[in-house]
Amino acid sequence: MAEVEKIHVFWEEGMLKHDTGRGVFDTGSDPGFLDVLEKHPENGDRIRNMVSILKRGPISPFISWHQGRHASVSELYSFHSPEYINELEEADKAGGKTICCGTFLNPGSWEAALLAAGTTLSAMKHILDGHGNIAYALVRPPGHHAQPTQADGYCFLNNAGLAIQLALDFGRAKVAVIDIDVHYGNGTAEGFYRSNEVLTISLHMNHGSWGPSHPQSGTLDELGEGVGFGYNINIPLPNGSGDRGYEYAMKELVIPAVQKFEPDMIVLVVGQDSSAFDPNGRQCLTMDGYREIGRIIRNLANTHCNGQLLIIQEGGYHITYAAYCLHATLEGAMYLQNPLLSDPIAYYPEDEAFTLKVIDQMKKHYTKNVPFLKENT
Ligand SMILES: [Zn+2]
Repeated sequence: MAEVEKIHVFWEEGMLKHDTGRGVFDTGSDPGFLDVLEKHPENGDRIRNMVSILKRGPISPFISWHQGRHASVSELYSFHSPEYINELEEADKAGGKTICCGTFLNPGSWEAALLAAGTTLSAMKHILDGHGNIAYALVRPPGHHAQPTQADGYCFLNNAGLAIQLALDFGRAKVAVIDIDVHYGNGTAEGFYRSNEVLTISLHMNHGSWGPSHPQSGTLDELGEGVGFGYNINIPLPNGSGDRGYEYAMKELVIPAVQKFEPDMIVLVVGQDSSAFDPNGRQCLTMDGYREIGRIIRNLANTHCNGQLLIIQEGGYHITYAAYCLHATLEGAMYLQNPLLSDPIAYYPEDEAFTLKVIDQMKKHYTKNVPFLKENT
C-alpha cells in the first residue's frame, strides 16, 4: 500500500464571528408561536465540530493544519463584480443587512466572508505551489450559491469560484468542479456558464429555482452557453437517493464526463446536507456514501491531475452527523483501506431503485445533447 498522503487543512477561527442568529428555522424571525427558537442552521457550532473531529478524531494524525487569511477586496473581482462587492461593504459599514432570504450580513459577517474566501485561495495556492496534493478549505460562510453579482442561500462570496479562477490564472487549462452539496451550486455554475475551461457538475435535490436570488433551476436543460455549452452538468436527484444512488450517479454520469473533459485540476465542493439526517436535505447519504464519494474523486484526481485535489466546505447542518460525514469523506479522499470511524446513527432506506432509473434517463439526455459526451466520440 502506498504511503498515506496528509490532508492540508486550511482554517481560521475568525470565521466563527459570523453570527446568523436565531429564529424559526433559517428565517431569523420570531412570530411568537414557539417557546424555543433554534439557531440558524448555518451556525458556528457545525464548523466547530468539524474542526474538533479533525483534531481529535482518528483521522487527526493524517491532518496538517494551516492558518487561513483574509482575501483582499481586489482578489474578489476575479469572480464578483465591483458593484456587488461595494454593496456588501456598504452593508457591513451600515451595521448589517438582510441580503436575501435567510442570508444575514451581521456585524462580523463580512470579515468572516473575507476569511472564507482568502482561506480557500490559500488552500488552492498551496496545491498550485506544489506544497501538497490534497487541501481542504474548512470555511464558512459557504459560497457556492453566491453568483458574480448577487448573494444567495447563506452565501456572500463564492469561495470555490475564486479558487477555480486562481487555478486558471495560474496556468491550469481545465478545471472540473464536482459539487455534492444537496443544493444546486448555482453560483459556481453561473460564474463559468459561458466557459469551456471549467466543467461544473452539481448533484443536488430537485429543488428548482427558489426566487430572485436563485433564478437558476438546476435542471438538465441548463447546459451552459456559447463556448460553455455542454460544460454545465446538472444531476438533480430524487429525494432519498442514498449511498447507492450517489455511487451510481458518479459511475454513470460524473466519472465519464470528467474522463472525457480531462481536467488538470479537480475541486470537490462538499456539503454534508446531503446526509440522512440533515435538516435542509432529503438525500439520505451515510458515512459510507461520503467515504465512497471521497474515494471516487481521489481516483479521478490521481488519473488526471497527479493526485491534486482541492476540497471546499459548503453546507451541512446536522451539528454532529455533518462532522462525522466530513471525517468519512476525507478518509475516502485519503484512500484509507478501512473505515477509521464507525457510523453512530446510519439509517438506510431501501428506496433507491427509482433513483437508478432516473440516472439512466439523465445519461441518455447528456450523451444525446452534449457534444463532448456523445457516445462513440
Ligand atoms: Zn446546501
